[in-house]
Amino acid sequence: MAADEIEWVCAVCGQPVADEHGYITVNRAMALQAERENQRWDEEHQQSVTIEELSAGTKLIDWKVLHAECDPKVGDDEEESYTIAIADVRTYRSLLFRSLDLVGKTWLKATDWTSFLKRSV
Ligand SMILES: [Zn+2]
Repeated sequence: MAADEIEWVCAVCGQPVADEHGYITVNRAMALQAERENQRWDEEHQQSVTIEELSAGTKLIDWKVLHAECDPKVGDDEEESYTIAIADVRTYRSLLFRSLDLVGKTWLKATDWTSFLKRSV
């Protein structure tokens, strides 16, 4: 494995994920829902809040690395999920590139993308 390659590990079985065998995924329907709830929470808490209150009031949907065969949601509505093929984020350069695509998604801030990246790379 080259130095700039990322070894992605499946959240279910703990084994490395080869290029054609998996993806990074998040439930977009849940992220959209969380985004709306977070927005409503923010509107109801216009006055100053503590960091603890803020994090308790902010809901984040988890990103996961999965083998296709380990994905417990197989057979569910694929429209609900936003997925990135592992082959598309194998290097830091390609991961950065895909991250820039995500920045434009309004629901991204209702997901744990930042902490997911921190624990993945
Ligand atoms: Zn797996």
